[in-house]
Amino acid sequence: MPGWPVCVVQMNVLVLNSGSSSLKFQLIATDPGRTEESGTQNQVVESGAERLCRGVVERIGGEAIITVQSPRSPKQKLTASLPDIRTSLEYLLRWMDESRVTENRAVADIDAIGHRIVHGGELFTESTIITDTVREGIEECIDLAPLHNPNNLKGILASREVFGPKVPQVAVFDTSFHHSIPEHAFLYAVPYHLYRRHHIRRFGFHGTSHRFVSERYRALRGLQIEQTNLITLHLGNGCSAAAIRGGRSVDTSMGMTPLEGLMMGTRSGDIDPAVVNIIATKEGLSLNEVDTLLNMQSGLLGVSGLTNDMRLLQQELKDQDNRRVRLAIQMFCYRARKYVGAFLACMGGADAIVFTGGIGENSAEIRAEICAGLEWAGLRLDHEKNDQMTGQEGEISTNDSRLHAFVIPTDEELLIARDTIRCILDETRISDQRASSKVA
Ligand code: ADP
Repeated sequence: MPGWPVCVVQMNVLVLNSGSSSLKFQLIATDPGRTEESGTQNQVVESGAERLCRGVVERIGGEAIITVQSPRSPKQKLTASLPDIRTSLEYLLRWMDESRVTENRAVADIDAIGHRIVHGGELFTESTIITDTVREGIEECIDLAPLHNPNNLKGILASREVFGPKVPQVAVFDTSFHHSIPEHAFLYAVPYHLYRRHHIRRFGFHGTSHRFVSERYRALRGLQIEQTNLITLHLGNGCSAAAIRGGRSVDTSMGMTPLEGLMMGTRSGDIDPAVVNIIATKEGLSLNEVDTLLNMQSGLLGVSGLTNDMRLLQQELKDQDNRRVRLAIQMFCYRARKYVGAFLACMGGADAIVFTGGIGENSAEIRAEICAGLEWAGLRLDHEKNDQMTGQEGEISTNDSRLHAFVIPTDEELLIARDTIRCILDETRISDQRASSKVA
């Protein structure tokens, strides 16, 4: 492994999230952040970051729609024929150069690329520089995330083609934050050999989001890692809860796949597994079709019969008192509260609940409804503060609340950018040490 030519503190990191026909990107100029060590985990205490541009390429493979924006140019929607990720990346680079998003530097000077990788299985417990071996490892995890890891890999290969081997690439896994969950919490109570043979276990997802808000909470309250005990609720289209004790994930609501746990936009969340067979038999569906039904047609959409979009559901409820919409929202909040209660019991109590994700960051009503049954646990919501907290960071519980509640907007891309720099700096340090020990 070469020592990467890194001598700057701040770097331009291109963060990529490649899907089946889409490519989300952000170019972030950031430093790795001041970190503190605890056990095997580093946690960021402070960092500086500037968002140079962001956007998404959709409908790759045909006439693609490219949405881009930067502080220097307002949001634009463009179209171009882009057959694959490689041509999409090349298109974005041309746009960045033409739009002069990096002011003084050529975009060709992108220092590193950070990839969001959905599944790292049991192989990857932390972010890592992408080598051939790492690529093979991500391939090995395809079985665990057949819809995501292959597309993530395509993003890695295309980046290599476009930027060449001199630009380091780093994989940041959605699962790795949860590797600290103990065996008794991650195992399912099925024959143990299924775990051994097929890795049937809970992995958890949204790890970058849970980790980001946990680190941010810690920085806000000036805590040591060992004092960082909280429950994070990521409520977006996908929803999950994490129990974080001593800064480490000790349990989470999503399982082997993102289907388990909280009720979500289109996913059912927890369900009696026997229901799968019953639905298949009664409705004459294949197992794959039931899987699709539980992932794509359930949750808020399935119960309301209208939409998976919480904002629209709330609007509908204001406009007309639709019983199924009310029920869907009630179920959503009830399930979230139930997980908070369960995690409080598992952790022996926590100091705070942190709301994040599109719903958690923006909907005071949903936050209030989730917190409404938690007074017994010492949570007292400050309704005025809660009502004012939309898409911004701050505490929403009263000063005398024993269990605090916070809203912290997530920033997964920033975490990926920071991890990318940290992995590169670590690697450079190791190869420098190797080189100097050879000389000695
Ligand atoms: P994703 O998981 O796809 O990243 P987001 O985190 O953006 O999704 O969350 C999307 C969800 O957030 C949608 O259900 C949307 O309606 C909801 N949301 C966004 N803004 C608001 C708001 N002001 N009030 C209620 N829900 C909101």
